[in-house]
Amino acid sequence: MNASIKIDVKGIVQGVGFRPFVYHLAKRYELFGYVCNNTSGVLIEIEGQKSNIDAFIEKIRTAPPPQAVIFEIASHDIEPVGYDNFVIRPSDDHKEKFVPISPEIATCQECLTELFDPSDRRYRYPFINCTNCGPRFTIVKDIPYDRQFTTMASFKMCRMCQNEYDDPDNRRFHAQPNACSVCGPGLTLLNSKMEKIDVPDVISEVCRLLKDGEIIAIKGLGGYHLACDALNPDAVFRLRSRKYRDYKPFAIMVKDIEAAKRLCYVSEKEGKVLTGSIRPIVLLRKKPGCPVAEDVAPHQKYHGVMLPYTPLHHLIVEESDLVLVMTSGNMSSEPIVYHDEQAFDRLKNIADFYCIHNREIHIRTDDSVIRVWRDNGIVLRRARGFAPFPLVLNYKFQENVLACGAELKNSFCLGRDNFAFMSHHIGDLENLETLMSFEEGIAHFQRIFNISPTLVAYDLHPDYLATKYALALEDIPKIGVQHHHAHIVSCMVENEIEGEVIGVSFDGTGYGTDGTIWGGEFLICNYRQFKRVGHLEYTSLPGGEKAIKEPWRMAASYLYNIYHEDVLDLDIDFVKKLDRRKWETIKKMIDKGINSPVTSSSGRLFDAVSALVGIRNKVYYEGQAAIELEMSAGREEGGYPFDLKDIEDKVLVMLEPLFKGIVSDLERGVETGSIASRFHNTMARIILSMCLKLKKISGLDRVALSGGVFQNSLLLDKTYVLLHKNDFKVYTHHKVPPNDGGIALGQAVAANEQAK
Ligand SMILES: [Zn+2]
Ligand SMILES: [Zn+2]
Repeated sequence: MNASIKIDVKGIVQGVGFRPFVYHLAKRYELFGYVCNNTSGVLIEIEGQKSNIDAFIEKIRTAPPPQAVIFEIASHDIEPVGYDNFVIRPSDDHKEKFVPISPEIATCQECLTELFDPSDRRYRYPFINCTNCGPRFTIVKDIPYDRQFTTMASFKMCRMCQNEYDDPDNRRFHAQPNACSVCGPGLTLLNSKMEKIDVPDVISEVCRLLKDGEIIAIKGLGGYHLACDALNPDAVFRLRSRKYRDYKPFAIMVKDIEAAKRLCYVSEKEGKVLTGSIRPIVLLRKKPGCPVAEDVAPHQKYHGVMLPYTPLHHLIVEESDLVLVMTSGNMSSEPIVYHDEQAFDRLKNIADFYCIHNREIHIRTDDSVIRVWRDNGIVLRRARGFAPFPLVLNYKFQENVLACGAELKNSFCLGRDNFAFMSHHIGDLENLETLMSFEEGIAHFQRIFNISPTLVAYDLHPDYLATKYALALEDIPKIGVQHHHAHIVSCMVENEIEGEVIGVSFDGTGYGTDGTIWGGEFLICNYRQFKRVGHLEYTSLPGGEKAIKEPWRMAASYLYNIYHEDVLDLDIDFVKKLDRRKWETIKKMIDKGINSPVTSSSGRLFDAVSALVGIRNKVYYEGQAAIELEMSAGREEGGYPFDLKDIEDKVLVMLEPLFKGIVSDLERGVETGSIASRFHNTMARIILSMCLKLKKISGLDRVALSGGVFQNSLLLDKTYVLLHKNDFKVYTHHKVPPNDGGIALGQAVAANEQAK
């Protein structure tokens, strides 16, 4: 029996070899008709034997090309046309223009085989790619995804490359970045004065320089990296001192998973994430005797490890056989450098040499960062390999929502229908460079996904640049979404849960509806609204912003609250080392309320404990004191007391007993590791006690955990175990970061609900 069928395939099906796949499948099943790209994905019309058509659709469903992601396949009968062959038709008009674009894909095995095959015409060609791998989002200037709208437009394909591009039987059929050494981009080596160095082979020379301990700025896929030999303490020290980045860990790149296993423990799941096509930085626990220089990740139990993801990386690590530091090319706090001119300007005092190429990067994208927890990835930084891949939600936006995100680790989100286009990690919106990146990013996303926002969501903090940007937009409704509510909604949406939950929103800073700084929050909320049912007791932040940079101020603030004038009598190192003059100032600030806003922040509580036990008085990057406290924790059971106090319609977590317990341990000379461990246990118990109390009041047994503090896997794990044991259903982040990088998703959904 014959049939005539029209098939709509929705999803990431463009730029991933989908049409040639369909073409071959049609030939195989002796079907006639055509395939083309259209506004929502791929359209197929097909005629032939009914049983063959069924088999054809089944194959599309079950065995699509490796990089394709199918959201939906819809098929229905049509009138027969009488096709006598099967063809790939040119794209439909992109009238409504709404096609997901693939993220960057790590070099595939077939390309790698060619790369290292001396008889192949692309032998050692650092820009080899095909329909299954290579640059995508970073080179796209506009849609549709055709070469003329990418930064490859300036390279005219040679005859051989063009033949591959035109041949449906070829792996490079319509591979937009297709190139070879005759027609494509090439490498150039420059010295620190930006003078070209003539060498017969740039890669060999780069390898030699790296082995000599030089620092090289390498232009990659989404920006510049700074690279040096990670096993050479002298080189790493020089890089660290030149970058003014005193402690923040550098990522490293190793040749393969075996090389990673020589340095760190790698579980099966971690191995899968490491070797997958996204190739993020994976946080892996260091092995004892790990030969990587201590300065790469000081005071850390983990290394951020990635495998090569471009042909250039493969060539360099393969030929040098080095473990490389591969850290973002930037001055600390600025976004990753991606334009050549900018690289020369920003990196001139850091890099000894530059390994550059002439394929322009249109959108900068950092490396993504993932930690594996309980066999699941937690995305800590969502960038290369993820963006601009949309989250497909179980939720439908009525409005086209632009959510502007928060201040630190900013990312924005465009919501339309059941898609959330989360941007790549933009960075800390604290300087002009990052703000420009944010504004350009929003414009770019609106263009390539053809979304004109009808609603804008923003954080309530009046000083955030993202908020100021939102409020300055004209002729568009705007809705402010409370920071911690947005966190919890993000977690709910990605876990596809609706209705009311208990939200535990723990982070450093978020603007509260009462104008104070929140951060240790217990909410009962749904998508639309929240009630703040409990929080950590308020404490002064003596010096405001300064108290965030200098955790000793937080410790002093807590101690002063509890012991008043008797603080100086405490027989602990923290007090002995306390600068008496500064102590007097702090007391005055707190007493008179000068530049001492109050906060319920859990991040500041971790900071305070970190300083109190002697780990860190001053931080050089966000979260450092808390991270080092986590790293120092042993396996001690037991915890400290705390009080839950009902005040009006809220429950406050009173911390005096906790601090008294820590001080008493310090006076008895208990080890830091034990105190750190007991403190983590206590925090988990506080969360459990609060949730039990809230369950009694509300009947809710679902708990969503969100906020930057839950990047702490020790706390997350202890909390999860306790809640789970007590019959709570626990929801955590996996698709968007628990930190402020994931907040835009929740903002978008909450604002869309409130606009109804
Ligand atoms: Zn390939
Ligand atoms: Zn060519």
